[in-house]
Amino acid sequence: MPSIRTDISSTSAGAAVNGTSDAPAGVEELDVLVIGGGFSGCRLLYELRRRGFKVKLVEAGSDLGGIWHWNMYPGARVDSQYPVYALAVPEVYETWTWTQQYPGYDELQRYFAHIGKVLDLKKDCYFNTKVTAAEWDKATNQWTVHCDTGRTIKTWSLIAAIGFAAKRHFPDWPGMDTFGGTILHSSFWSPDIDYAGKKVAVIGTGATGAMLHFLYAAFANWLR
Ligand SMILES: Cc1cc2nc3c(=O)[nH]c(=O)nc-3n(C[C@H](O)[C@H](O)[C@H](O)COP(=O)(O)OP(=O)(O)OC[C@H]3O[C@@H](n4cnc5c(N)ncnc54)[C@H](O)[C@@H]3O)c2cc1C
Repeated sequence: MPSIRTDISSTSAGAAVNGTSDAPAGVEELDVLVIGGGFSGCRLLYELRRRGFKVKLVEAGSDLGGIWHWNMYPGARVDSQYPVYALAVPEVYETWTWTQQYPGYDELQRYFAHIGKVLDLKKDCYFNTKVTAAEWDKATNQWTVHCDTGRTIKTWSLIAAIGFAAKRHFPDWPGMDTFGGTILHSSFWSPDIDYAGKKVAVIGTGATGAMLHFLYAAFANWLR
């Protein structure tokens, strides 16, 4: 397929912008390792750390946000109203004001930046780091966790806060590999591509497809 991103691994990710993605020479030992930096991973890191556990979070993307880090297509927006779709952590909600009742991805990204700041999460995060394997050692009662950056972590508890959408579906339609244009998956959006005046075909009529149709109609000269 031409120029289409298909995986969350760090080899295809942008530069590390937060925390660290450098792999140390040795093996790090933890009480708990959380995989995933979305709502669930952020809450887990916060709760476990304040209960005294030695805990770290690994995230394949370059920042917190989970689904909201990856889904930045035009129109991506929540469908739950803001009092419901937010972290019930006083430090977060007492210092944050939503500007919309159904916020868009850009506000969600600012919200996750806020969460990271007020809960001081990023010092315990490894970004651009994808877990590729984990083995349980019966003798030591520990997981040995391997990451694509070369980082290795031993931990007695491993939590997969990886959501339901980290593994995307890509069709295998004949001819995709020779298509001359640009193909994008909505959850691997590129803000750098200029669609003005281009012919655009959207495949899919669910919530995402419907929203993209609506927005493209405003600036692409041909839409199907
Ligand atoms: C456009 C959109 C709108 C939505 N709106 C709503 C809504 O209004 N209300 C609602 O309830 N839900 C909504 N959802 C569903 C959303 O998935 C959940 O609400 C929630 O954000 C999921 O959080 P999570 O922490 O469980 O997982 P995610 O946010 O999916 O985070 C999982 C993270 O795990 C990381 N990861 C996965 N595998 C690995 C690995 N091997 N190594 C390292 N990192 C890994 C991923 O990179 C990802 O960042 C929406 C989803 C989308 C796409």
